[in-house]
Amino acid sequence: MDAQTCLKKLGYVGVLAFATVDREGNPQVRNISAIHYEEDAIYFFTARGKDFCRELLDTGKVQVLGYTMYKEMIRLTGKVEPAPEEEQDKWRDLIFEEQPYLANVYPGNTRSIGIIFRIRDMTIEYFHLGVNPIFRETYTVGNGRAVPKGYRITDACISCGKCVGLCPQRAIEKGSPSIIRQEHCLHCGNCYENCPVSAIERRS
Ligand code: SF4
Ligand code: SF4
Repeated sequence: MDAQTCLKKLGYVGVLAFATVDREGNPQVRNISAIHYEEDAIYFFTARGKDFCRELLDTGKVQVLGYTMYKEMIRLTGKVEPAPEEEQDKWRDLIFEEQPYLANVYPGNTRSIGIIFRIRDMTIEYFHLGVNPIFRETYTVGNGRAVPKGYRITDACISCGKCVGLCPQRAIEKGSPSIIRQEHCLHCGNCYENCPVSAIERRS
């Protein structure tokens, strides 16, 4: 798996959930399919009058979520900005070409109320629940940043092995100290809650 394959898979999913935060600090989620994919960015269309547009401009942040038929969760977190003015028409027309239904929603020149946003710097979290053990990995595009999440075992571990038996994904290898195979960890916290010497800590 890699970032480009994740972007391709999001393209196959088609309709993605876009999360923003409004001016009252409340979460807002919309389904968006007017999206075009490039290797170094994704572009999407909305209308300038929508609250969604205002939230994107206010915060400059967005999170995008897709779920494939194979039980893969792909979450993209990124900075969002309007595409450069001189590129607006090009990306808008391309998205309308790729998504013919849009001409029904915005017929003729009414599409000019649209604005194209782009996401270039992104962090992509891939989480596959359809394999055993589960598999997860984080990728970046542009200046996206991978922030460690989940749990780690510290040197306070006494190698008792209790967490090994409690892990639903067999993600812990007994040792001195024991270690968590991060690519198979659910982030459920069962090891963290049950370690007799509190040797497990959150990574963020
Ligand atoms: S339960 Fe705690 S002390 Fe025991 S092996 Fe796991 S991390 Fe180490
Ligand atoms: S957080 Fe859950 S899945 Fe991850 S190592 Fe601990 S028990 Fe296993």
